[in-house]
Amino acid sequence: MERGEKQTQMSHLHGHGIAAPPILLAIGGFDPSCGAGVAADLKTFAAHGCYGIAAITSLTVQNTQGVEAVHHTPSAELREQLEVLTKDSEIAAVKIGMLGNRANAVVVGEFLDAHTFAHVVHDPVIRSSSDAELLDTTGVKYLATELLKRSSVITPNVPEAEALTGIAIKDLSAMEAAARKLVEMGAKAVIVKGGHMERAIDLVFDGKDVHALSGDKVKMENTHGTGCTFASAIAAHLAVGRSLVEAATLAKAYVVKAIEKAYPVGRGRVPLDHFYRMKIEPLARGTHELTQHGLHPAAEPAAH
Ligand code: PLP
Repeated sequence: MERGEKQTQMSHLHGHGIAAPPILLAIGGFDPSCGAGVAADLKTFAAHGCYGIAAITSLTVQNTQGVEAVHHTPSAELREQLEVLTKDSEIAAVKIGMLGNRANAVVVGEFLDAHTFAHVVHDPVIRSSSDAELLDTTGVKYLATELLKRSSVITPNVPEAEALTGIAIKDLSAMEAAARKLVEMGAKAVIVKGGHMERAIDLVFDGKDVHALSGDKVKMENTHGTGCTFASAIAAHLAVGRSLVEAATLAKAYVVKAIEKAYPVGRGRVPLDHFYRMKIEPLARGTHELTQHGLHPAAEPAAH
């Protein structure tokens, strides 16, 4: 039976008339403090109305103060995780983050070769802000020579773009040179993130045109998981058909707001508030609860 046929039959059996939103696959590390990694990815997907599934490349020992250790998933297990998900769900986009080591990077490369995905957003994580190694040296080499060709877009920050290209980046023109070099190396599109620069300009290069996305640098420096969140928001926007520049613009606006609304969770760096749009405000006077429809102001006639 063809995959599509099987899926239709399954939804016929189990469906109850509610169409599923885009299903997005996150491949990355797990940060138990849930500010970065796949936890940030899944929260971002949910905040954008998508359903997230995930395969874990590494289990980190981490709190908001830093990464203490990393334990990589054995590559055969990572392969199984990816296959069991792929044979079950129609995946609208894939987001890749921390890969840990070369063996798991190769599993992801082979996985991308074995399946066709409409959108693959790869945040080429190499080190954490607390300077823990999140991809080993041979893994970085595989990423640069093999993996970046297999993504729709890669989203390095300045240190990652420097590590991948060997270009020292001090200004916007060097960011552009690095983006062009990454495309020469095989990337289809590149977003060099300017969060580490004085002015937080992100540079989008789709292989043809360069777009600079300017943005005010948010005051709070001490944030955690911004890169994961940005790439995941891009994946969500691409999955619903937006263009790369539109996706990057909206993702940047989301990250800025989620930083502005961030609150401390531990004693260290501050995770973003992925759900700032969903804050429950104190009840307005006269509000009552209709159990079947959620909360509605009593003064307003029901819209349905
Ligand atoms: N832990 C995991 C699992 C990650 O994927 C990342 C970044 O991608 C980090 C930690 C580091 O995040 P940050 O540099 O924001 O501390």
